[in-house]
Amino acid sequence: MKHWKTLVTAGTMALATTAATAEETFITIGTGGQTGVYFVVGQSICRLVNRDTATTGLKCTAPSTGGSIANINAIKAGDMTMGVAQSDWQHHAYNGTSKFEGDKFDKERAVFSVHGEPFTVIARADAGVSTFDDLKGKRVNVGNPGSGQLATMEVVLAAKGWTMADFSLASELKPAEQAAALGDNKVDAIIYTVGHPNGSIQEAVSTVDAVLVPVEGEAIDKLVAENPFYAYATIPGGMYKGSDNDVKTFGVKATFVTSADVPDEVVYQVVKAVFDNFDRFKGLHPAFANLKEEDMIKDGLSAPLHPGAEKYYKERGWM
Ligand code: GLU
Repeated sequence: MKHWKTLVTAGTMALATTAATAEETFITIGTGGQTGVYFVVGQSICRLVNRDTATTGLKCTAPSTGGSIANINAIKAGDMTMGVAQSDWQHHAYNGTSKFEGDKFDKERAVFSVHGEPFTVIARADAGVSTFDDLKGKRVNVGNPGSGQLATMEVVLAAKGWTMADFSLASELKPAEQAAALGDNKVDAIIYTVGHPNGSIQEAVSTVDAVLVPVEGEAIDKLVAENPFYAYATIPGGMYKGSDNDVKTFGVKATFVTSADVPDEVVYQVVKAVFDNFDRFKGLHPAFANLKEEDMIKDGLSAPLHPGAEKYYKERGWM
C-alpha cells in the first residue's frame, strides 16, 4: 500500500552472514502551510518518531500541504498515513456531510486532538472593518483550496446568507502569501483558522497596522449551538500588536486523524512517541503549551479512535 509502504533493504553478499535485512516503514503526515501551526505539529511528531527509528523501523516525514481538506483526501486515497485536520472536517468526512456529502470516509479514524483553532479574521487598520459584517464589499483572502479555513468560511457565509460575491474580491492565497498581501494592500482582510500565537499573524501585524476582528452574532450562535465540533473562542488581548483587548470568535480543534487501513502498530508507535515525550512535544510550539492528555484523547474527536491509539491510552490507564 502506498501510504505505509515497506522497504526491505536487500542484504549484499558481504552482509549476508549478518542480520542484514532491515525493515523500514515510511509514514507521511499531512500538515498545512509552512507558516501555520499544523506544519509544526507534523514536524514535531516526526521528530519524536524518528528518534526511535532504530527500534521501530518507522521513518516519518511531514510535508507542507493545503491543509485539512487536502490531508483528509490524501489519507482517504492512501497517499498519506496520517494528518492534521480541523474537528469540523474530521466530523463531516466521517459522516459524509457538508463538503463531504456523497464522499463519506467511513474508514477515517481519530488519533488525538491538539490545540484550539479560533476562526480568525484580521483586517488592515485603514480598511474600516471592525465587525465581520463590515467585510461586505471588501477584498478578502478567504483561504487556499484544500484548507480548513476556506471550507469553514464557506459554512460561515452560508449561515449568514452570503456568498463569495458579497466580497469585491475573494482571493485564495496560501497562508504564507496572505500576510504580504495584507501588507501590500492587495486585500483588506485575511481569514485563517489557526492556533495562537502563530508566525503568520505575527508577520501580518508587523508589516502593517492591522486588527483582529470579532466574529459574533446570531448566525455564529446558531452554528455553535447546533454543532458539537464548534465552540466559542477568545483570542487573548496583547497576543498580537494592535489588538490589546480580547477578541471573541468561534473555533474548532486541530485533530490528528488516520485511516483504519493503517496498521495498529504504526499508530501505536506514533502515539507512544508523542505521549512518552509529552513535555518535549509541548515545548515545540507556544500553541501546545496548555495541552492536557485527558482532553486530547476525547475533545473534538468524532470518528472512532484508531485501535493502535486506544491500545496506548489503555496502557496508560487513561481509558
Ligand atoms: N486550520 C488550517 C487548515 O485546516 C491550518 C492551520 C495551520 O496550518 O496551522 O487548513
